[in-house]
Amino acid sequence: MEKRYIDILEPDDWHVHLREGSILSTVLPFTYKSFASALIMPNLETPVTNISLAETYYSEICRQIPREIKFTPHMTLYLTSHLSKQQIINVSTHQYIKAIKMYPKGATTNSDSGFSNIIELYPLFEVMEKYGVILSIHGEVTNEKVDVFEREKVFIETILTQIINNFPNLRIVLEHITSADAVNFIKEQKKLAATITNHHLMVNRNIMLSKGIRPNFYCAPILKTEEDRLALVQAAISGNGKFFLGTDSAPHVDSKKVSSCGCAGIFSSPLAIPLLIQLFEDHSSLNKIENFISRNGRAFYGLNQHNERVRYVKRSNPVDAIKNIKTNQGEITVFNPYDELYWEKEN
Ligand SMILES: [Zn+2]
Repeated sequence: MEKRYIDILEPDDWHVHLREGSILSTVLPFTYKSFASALIMPNLETPVTNISLAETYYSEICRQIPREIKFTPHMTLYLTSHLSKQQIINVSTHQYIKAIKMYPKGATTNSDSGFSNIIELYPLFEVMEKYGVILSIHGEVTNEKVDVFEREKVFIETILTQIINNFPNLRIVLEHITSADAVNFIKEQKKLAATITNHHLMVNRNIMLSKGIRPNFYCAPILKTEEDRLALVQAAISGNGKFFLGTDSAPHVDSKKVSSCGCAGIFSSPLAIPLLIQLFEDHSSLNKIENFISRNGRAFYGLNQHNERVRYVKRSNPVDAIKNIKTNQGEITVFNPYDELYWEKEN
């Protein structure tokens, strides 16, 4: 008998961009309705480079969460060479700041404050390693001489390897991994884990580029081959504790995506969980979905496991899935690469 519903330990999103101002107000409900907690990225227009800015951003988010909703925002700091050692020590015992995020300069939206010389950051890595603060990494080089499809691979071979060799006990999350090479590298390293997004699990660069260009699938790091996608799926459905969900949901209004110079970023929060259930079901791996979306991330971040479950139901006919949301700056398309989606959250 085919399963018609599934009760899943509450999921967490270990990588999300909630933005700020009116976009924050519009997109936040899609995260707190789908997830029990989320790790919120710090690349605002004024990057969240210290504890006080993170606390202000946290308060802005909390003000918009209705009292009856149980949702925990986990915050991140944006790593710059100006971050003080004392701030890192304070992060190590902070109630809700859970990681420090490193962006190579210019790698993605609002990353102009990122590093250009890794050595400058070594004194900070030393403190993070000593105090057990997690380093979250956007793992791509930004050198224009490196092909865009090779940037993660080159980052892993050069910069990431160098960081691991110098700081073997530093706990690192390589964010939004895209390739079979990355999966293999993660498996070999003791202190390294990785987030994987819905879109890297569900679409490849042919889907984005071969039959007309599909700007709504354009993201950073860019989609890779079908072989890479399948390696990511195997990692996700394996249950291996090193891999967990980080949607990297990153809203941009359609006018900024469908443009002669479109922005990278995919808004995936609203359908992230039902799409993943369908993916795991298609791979006969529903028994592993809790590892990927509910357990592994919490274990890596040292948090207690959830004990409440949420029910998702499988309908006999495709559900009327949300296609876009309206904001005062325009519409934002919701990621859904499947022609037919059968799962939805039970209300
Ligand atoms: Zn991101």
